[in-house]
Amino acid sequence: MLDILHRVSREVNAAPGLREALQIIINRVADAMAVDVCSVYLLDAAQGDFVLRDTRGLNADAVGRVRMAATEGLVGLVAEREEPINLKNAPSHSRFRYFPETGEERYSSFLGVPIIHYRTVLGVLVVQQTEQRRFEENEVAFLVTLAAQLAGAIAHARVSGGIDGIETDRAVEDGRALRGLAGAPGVAIGTAVVPYTQADLNAIPDRAAVDPEAEVAAFEAAVEQVSAELRELSEQIASSVTTDERMLFDVYLHMLEGDTLVQETVERIRSGNWAPGALRQIIAEHVRVFEDMDDPYLSERASDIRDLGRRILSRLRDEGERARDLPEQAVLVGQEVSASQLAEVPSEKLQGIVAATGSRNSHVAILARALGIPAVMGIDDLRPRDLDGRPVVVDGYSGRFYVDPSPTVEQEYQRLITDEAEFAEGLEAVRDEPAVSPDGRSVALYANTGLITDINLSLAAGCDGIGLHRTEFPFLIRDRFPGEEEQAELYRRVLEQFAPHPVTLRTLDVGGDKSLAYFPIEEENPFLGWRGIRLTLDHPEIFLTQLRAMLRADVGLGNLQILLPMVSRLGEIADVRRLLLRARQELAEEGVETRSPSLGVMIEVPATLYQIDRYCDQADFLSLGSNDLTQYLLAVDRNNSRVASLYDELHPAVLAAVRDVTRAARRHGKRLTVCGGMAGDPAGAILLMGFGIDGFSMSVSSLMRIKWVVRRVPVTRAAELANRAVEMDSPEEVRRMLRHTLEEYELGGLIRAGK
Ligand code: PEP
Ligand code: MG
Repeated sequence: MLDILHRVSREVNAAPGLREALQIIINRVADAMAVDVCSVYLLDAAQGDFVLRDTRGLNADAVGRVRMAATEGLVGLVAEREEPINLKNAPSHSRFRYFPETGEERYSSFLGVPIIHYRTVLGVLVVQQTEQRRFEENEVAFLVTLAAQLAGAIAHARVSGGIDGIETDRAVEDGRALRGLAGAPGVAIGTAVVPYTQADLNAIPDRAAVDPEAEVAAFEAAVEQVSAELRELSEQIASSVTTDERMLFDVYLHMLEGDTLVQETVERIRSGNWAPGALRQIIAEHVRVFEDMDDPYLSERASDIRDLGRRILSRLRDEGERARDLPEQAVLVGQEVSASQLAEVPSEKLQGIVAATGSRNSHVAILARALGIPAVMGIDDLRPRDLDGRPVVVDGYSGRFYVDPSPTVEQEYQRLITDEAEFAEGLEAVRDEPAVSPDGRSVALYANTGLITDINLSLAAGCDGIGLHRTEFPFLIRDRFPGEEEQAELYRRVLEQFAPHPVTLRTLDVGGDKSLAYFPIEEENPFLGWRGIRLTLDHPEIFLTQLRAMLRADVGLGNLQILLPMVSRLGEIADVRRLLLRARQELAEEGVETRSPSLGVMIEVPATLYQIDRYCDQADFLSLGSNDLTQYLLAVDRNNSRVASLYDELHPAVLAAVRDVTRAARRHGKRLTVCGGMAGDPAGAILLMGFGIDGFSMSVSSLMRIKWVVRRVPVTRAAELANRAVEMDSPEEVRRMLRHTLEEYELGGLIRAGK
């Protein structure tokens, strides 16, 4: 069974569309379980009923015609109960409903399992048999597993219009959006551009062939080129390889010169798909045939076909990508969108970013915020390759992504974009104003920098310094640890740019989700593992290089502060102080006189909350990292889109922690800044003001928004709201209250699209 499950799962993922995916499931299930009937019913959201979408065993012309309300029939019952129903004699059940057009009166036994996606029943998978029997436990488990796999593909097709002839959520405008995580605020309307690499055949999007004959010619030229290369290779290495290895080339050549693969691709191009899309489809079909073979030698040939596909693709791509015109309003849509793909699109064309993986804390999202580009992350059901060239809308406030938006949705968002532009002008107006509340409290606004050097730094000109400079980026983009000189230069640039304002350089925080290709760490639980200060203290040679670079960069400036990530034991501060002293002594011996910088601790691991007085004693300042503190307090992985709805920095438990840290810092007269996402979130900022925090550090694009909030909301009011929030039951309740407050002060445009 496991073998079949793996195979089906592979096939479903490679299927070009939902219809093909359904057919694969139905045929595989019918064969594997030896049942007479296998059918799929899907929810028609507009009508609220279930429609027979595909079947093997029932009358084919009943497909699309048999409908039943959610309260009707056994299918309705499976959906209602949200669990499998296994009956020996279905017609005798009170909920059995007979549809003459299906011809199902012959079948006695019935097993139906719901297809559920994130708590929503999308459909029902049914098997039936003439023989009267209860299905066995392993059969039920098999069907449940397949239904769970099908759920993602169906959810995707519902919103991208892949279920023909069925009214999906088109009528329900809001429901038509794919839901992801808000990655970077803002709204964009544009055309999807799906980047792909030649190594990833599966990621190639389907796209209409503008000139099919030209595509055919390009394809044939690519095939000819690959054949020639293979022939040449085969001859070159003839003397140095075994006959077996040489035979592999001959197998490839046969595949290319035999008619099927090439001919079928050409036909597919002539019926409308562009050459790379047609190639992907044909290769996938051939791969499937080989993978299905029981003979291990033959099933291995599947990988040869894939490899051949990649070779042809890379020849095609060389030509195709050069000719590719990017739309004026490009929205990058990918499984993962990397920083380099982002750089390939000219910035004047790049309007939005959408990725199937990641969260608001991923690098791409943080970069998008720095660049002021709306982004939606972590859309589990996204199938980028279906989306290339299609009109889309990105709502980076709510994490919604619309494919082929209806005219109403598009108009509405167009209006919001216009409002936003006006709103942005309003924000500009406060640029040179002080961050002082209406009742006279002054707040320091710092910028978070570091993910990409120099981006938007000019925007940060009006801020009070750098509250968090993440130093990971130069480490992530190199193929080795950066040297002392390289680091010193980078740090010097930041320190200089903001002197005499303080610049807080955080020591290396790799581990967790930030891994270095040249220093791989294999861990079961990386967020609870060798991360941040734990790793650097274990590698003094890496740590000392960084500390020395920081100290040298500060010479003659004196605005350096050093911040330590992931501290969970008091002893770590003392260890760092020892190393810092050593670095200074070494430098002094080399004739470089340095200043002793302030040393701060990130409050982001819950343990620090319970020893907060001791941390206040031992650190020079504190910086509360609300991103990790939330993750660790709520036990919710900050990058996992499945539990993203549970991750909220405004959870009352997190707020109580922030309040307690603030009180402790005040008691000890220690400086406290908040540098996680909470500080750049207008709702969060009100509460932080209310708790009495006077240092906020945030992404540059949030600075003006937060200044507006500070200038509008009196601290006395903020304090009252903060006290109430801590007593509330849920983050939703807290957000509701703050939404009202923001609207009341005409600041609603900060947290949603529009003015
Ligand atoms: C945090 O954890 O809140 C923080 C600011 O650091 P990072 O996001 O880099 O982990
Ligand atoms: Mg952190």
